[in-house]
Amino acid sequence: MSLIVQKFGGSSVRDAQRIRNVAGIIAETYLEGNDVLVVLSAQGDTTDDLIAKAEEINSHPSKREMDMLLSTGEQISVALCAMALESMGLPCVSLTAWQVGIQTTAVHGDARIKRIDSERVQAELDQHRIVLITGFQGMDRAGDVTTLGRGGSDTSAVALAAAFRAKLCQIYTDVDGVYTADPRIVPNARHLDEITYDEMLELASQGAGVLHNRSVELAKKFRVDLEVLSSLERKPGTKVKEVTKVEKTTIAGVAKDTSIARIALIGLRHNPGVAFQVFDLLSKHNINVDLILQSIGREDSKDISFTVHEKDLEDARAILTENQEVLCFDHIEVDGNIGKVSIVGAGLMTNCGMAARMFEALYEAGINIQMINTSEIRVSVLLDEGDVDRAVRAIHAKFFDEI
Ligand code: ADP
Ligand code: ASP
Ligand code: MG
Repeated sequence: MSLIVQKFGGSSVRDAQRIRNVAGIIAETYLEGNDVLVVLSAQGDTTDDLIAKAEEINSHPSKREMDMLLSTGEQISVALCAMALESMGLPCVSLTAWQVGIQTTAVHGDARIKRIDSERVQAELDQHRIVLITGFQGMDRAGDVTTLGRGGSDTSAVALAAAFRAKLCQIYTDVDGVYTADPRIVPNARHLDEITYDEMLELASQGAGVLHNRSVELAKKFRVDLEVLSSLERKPGTKVKEVTKVEKTTIAGVAKDTSIARIALIGLRHNPGVAFQVFDLLSKHNINVDLILQSIGREDSKDISFTVHEKDLEDARAILTENQEVLCFDHIEVDGNIGKVSIVGAGLMTNCGMAARMFEALYEAGINIQMINTSEIRVSVLLDEGDVDRAVRAIHAKFFDEI
């Protein structure tokens, strides 16, 4: 018997009808003779609604209590879906991540999976039960509930697929696969039949929310066969794999991220070790930094600008301000109205003209670039938030509409 992991996102389990639809897909896979491990997200907008509820009570709740609250959404989904399967006469059991033993780091709101206990799940699979597991959550060493970051159920699914050596990990969502851009922004975006782990990782890390970036990282590391497909239409999705047959003459896609903010430290001492002090301080507070730009030093001072996730902006500003004397900067400037647009493609490695085409598209659209950052297979630009969607469309048209 082979094991298949199937993950269904929030829109796929939005209401009773969608849960029955999902139960139908699970039942079909089980009745074909497979073991099935199901991972579910919270229904519809439940996680956002829970965040709003918390804000009504306390505008700065502790991250521990936030995790305690947010993890409840997924528990509702697995119980309801198990009931749907029960009503079809199928053997099943729903489990929380705590019952399974999904152990994570203690970073509330952004925990990483460290280990998954196999005993309970294996015992249930041995009884030929369909096992439904809450996505997005785990527990730390102290036994406290943690969550994996928004969109983290994908990562739960891939981690379980790796731990139980599943034949396939299917991520069911509200689109029939990965497109060359978010189809909600670019309606004529193209469907990709396949994409490499590396390209998908870059796209996901740069804001293509169709997959949680850490899920792709894990899939690559443990060679999990990953497929993104629609829970609403029966058609082939997108396969994420090591090597694809696609010609690398164009990019794989365009992604945008507007959940970032820019911080600039103005008038830093122009001495060795200053960048180390700034970024070491932020990393000790678990604040990830993305794009970094340092100005050419003046006589005795320089400026450093960098981006952080907008959720970390206030913490980062407070930590840096508290340490202003040690870090010796003149003042701090922040800008939350920025966004990042990226192109990703294995072809970028060998074709330097592609970056120029991206900049040409922005020039033609009259959009100003604030910062540029590249990796082997990616070029990212920082823009005013208001220009982001227009930039995505202009760049996509440049690569896919022009011959
Ligand atoms: P789920 O609740 O199933 O996890 P998400 O909302 O997290 O679903 O992810 C699916 C959404 O990702 C799509 O509805 C689409 O708008 C968005 N998306 C962003 N970039 C892309 C892309 N390149 N290809 C497909 N979908 C994308
Ligand atoms: N429910 C969580 C969220 O909305 C996790 C997920 O959907 O993957 O972010
Ligand atoms: Mg998602």
